[in-house]
Amino acid sequence: MATYDDQNIFAKILRGEIPNDTIFEDEHVLAFRDINPQAPTHVLVIPKGAYVSFDDFSEKAGDAEIAAFVRAVGHVARKMGLKDSGYRVLANHGRDSNQEVPHFHVHIAGGQQLGPLLAKPRS
Ligand code: AMP
Repeated sequence: MATYDDQNIFAKILRGEIPNDTIFEDEHVLAFRDINPQAPTHVLVIPKGAYVSFDDFSEKAGDAEIAAFVRAVGHVARKMGLKDSGYRVLANHGRDSNQEVPHFHVHIAGGQQLGPLLAKPRS
């Protein structure tokens, strides 16, 4: 497991060094719009704790953080009006997923038909 890099862009957002378009915030969680949206609605949900990826979060986060995170994902999706039309929740972990930002986050995408789950891998 990589050690947490506190210079990653989401750490800077959490410290208020970089602006973000906040959708929801509480003690444990921040949700904000993705800067390069891949769907009409594309929101990122991140824990405020320093976790590199889903693997790190699932292993080390406390029960209260995990519960708050899952609740926040559902809350944000409802707040964005996606409950009835549907949405996708996705987390990238590590090299094969092309995780770009080494602070755990999930993507909530919706607002259109999202197509197949995965692009065809290169052979
Ligand atoms: P991932 O590939 O799962 O690590 O996704 C990282 C996501 O962070 C990408 O969808 C980027 O568009 C998004 N992103 C990068 N920088 C920012 C930023 N400053 N504000 C909002 N979203 C960002």
